[in-house]
Amino acid sequence: MPPFRIGHGYDLHRLEPLEPEGRGRPCVLGGVLFDHPLGPVGHSDGDAVLHALTDALLGAIGEPDIGQLFPDTDPRHDGQDSGVFLQEAMRRVTARGFCLGNVDITVVCERPKIGPRRDEICNRVASLLDCDPGCVNVKGKTHEGVDAVGEGRAIEVHVVVLLASASRVAKDEA
Ligand code: MG
Repeated sequence: MPPFRIGHGYDLHRLEPLEPEGRGRPCVLGGVLFDHPLGPVGHSDGDAVLHALTDALLGAIGEPDIGQLFPDTDPRHDGQDSGVFLQEAMRRVTARGFCLGNVDITVVCERPKIGPRRDEICNRVASLLDCDPGCVNVKGKTHEGVDAVGEGRAIEVHVVVLLASASRVAKDEA
C-alpha cells in the first residue's frame, strides 16, 4: 500500500425557500449555520460541504460512498447532523492506518457568501476531524450567474483530501 492516498468528493443540493414555504432545510455549510432565506433540500441536514468531504475521505480509502453507507431511504437519517457521517468516515480512515494530510474545499454558490465565514467553517471542520485548523482550507466561488448554481437554485461543493500512512508519519517524526 503506498504511503499516500488522495480522495475527491463532490456534492450538489437544490436550494429552496425554508420550510414550510419550500422544502429547504436551515442552511448549514461545514457545520456552520447561515442566516439565508434558502436552504438545501436533503434527507439529512443537507450539509453539502460535509457530504463532499465525507465522500472524499471514503474515496481515498476505497470504501463505499456516503449514499451507500447512509442511504436516504433510512428514516434514522432524516434531518441527521452530517457531522455524524463525517466522523464515521474519519473513523474508517484511522482504522485503515491513515491520518489526514490536508483538506481543500471549494464551495460554489452565489449566496450565501462563504468568505466572511471561512474561518468558522475551517475551525468547525477541523474540530469534527480532530485535526489542526491549518490542515483545512475553504474557498468560496460563484458560478458567474449561469446555470442552476449561478441562478441560486443549487449549491455545489468540491473537496480534495490527502491522507498519509500513520506509521510512515510516525517513523518520519521519530
Ligand atoms: Mg448531499
